Amino acid sequence: ETMIDQIAAGEVVERPASVVKELVENALDAGATRIEIATAGGGKSLLRVSDNGGGIAVTDLPLAIRRHCTSKLSDNLDNIQTLGFRGEALPSIGSVARLTLRSRHRESGADAHEIRVQNGQVEAPRPAALSQGTVVEVRDLFYSVPARLKFLKGEKAESSAITDVVRRMAIAFPQVRFELTGEDRTPTVFEATSDPLARIAAVVGKEFGENALQLDALREGVELTGFAGLPTFNRGNALFQFFYVNGRPVRDKSLLSAIRGAYADVVARDRHPVAVLFLTLDPRDVDVNVHPAKADVRFRDPGLVRGLVVGAIRALLADSGI
Ligand code: ADP
Ligand code: MG
Repeated sequence: ETMIDQIAAGEVVERPASVVKELVENALDAGATRIEIATAGGGKSLLRVSDNGGGIAVTDLPLAIRRHCTSKLSDNLDNIQTLGFRGEALPSIGSVARLTLRSRHRESGADAHEIRVQNGQVEAPRPAALSQGTVVEVRDLFYSVPARLKFLKGEKAESSAITDVVRRMAIAFPQVRFELTGEDRTPTVFEATSDPLARIAAVVGKEFGENALQLDALREGVELTGFAGLPTFNRGNALFQFFYVNGRPVRDKSLLSAIRGAYADVVARDRHPVAVLFLTLDPRDVDVNVHPAKADVRFRDPGLVRGLVVGAIRALLADSGI
């Protein structure tokens, strides 16, 4: 099964940042309110995600790393309440890295246990020390798949990609405390807050928090909220454009292009305005499961979404005399 898992891993695990995304999603699904991410060597030598969520019972530890085993099965793909549902991430990671899962189940009382996987080989669970939640440790990503290792970028670039993933998740979950640390970075802490704008300001910058224009628009059942930066508050890349669909971080070319369109007259073509957009729509009108890991979306009516975004931002700019 190792080969199959290694191939499946290519779908879910592209680089250290994709591992971080999967592990943070698992922590959120487990109800964590504190998530710590530690990295070394750009995440290539070490990734460790610790949470204070509900944990995994010792009898479930071996299942957590078995392919297509998920505790989150929903009978309706249109109505998935959890971030994960495929049961692919942990087995995939275990097939291309040294994986340790340490957990203490909230309901089963006293003991914590850990389980290790190397090269797809699973060891029996053994007692471990842990006060709460789950710690997932991933060492030497792709050590067994040199062809994949070769495609990773340098430590700095992989580190930045991890920071980007954490920022995107942090904006979606302001009530969760995130801490990103490691010998390869300056520590980042986003304290838990009930105010979404406070979290956005913590991630994007105080100036954005103070000056951004607030979006609130509705068209044919699609709701747009969030914040659009002033044209002068622009950047050399699109790293500070954040998109969420029904609360999940997504990537989408049509949304990037909608932002460009909205600001076309007031921001130079090679500059990128800052924006945080939350779209809320009927789950049946959007497919967020196009790709297992990439967070791509497909709208049933892309023209409607584009029109809504461009129209709402332009109206705000006009109202502000821009
Ligand atoms: P999925 O998230 O699609 O279910 P994963 O491979 O990511 O698949 O995880 C497998 C299972 O392991 C999950 O369904 C969950 O039961 C358990 N699990 C993984 N990470 C955690 C965690 N941090 N806390 C509690 N349970 C976890
Ligand atoms: Mg998962």
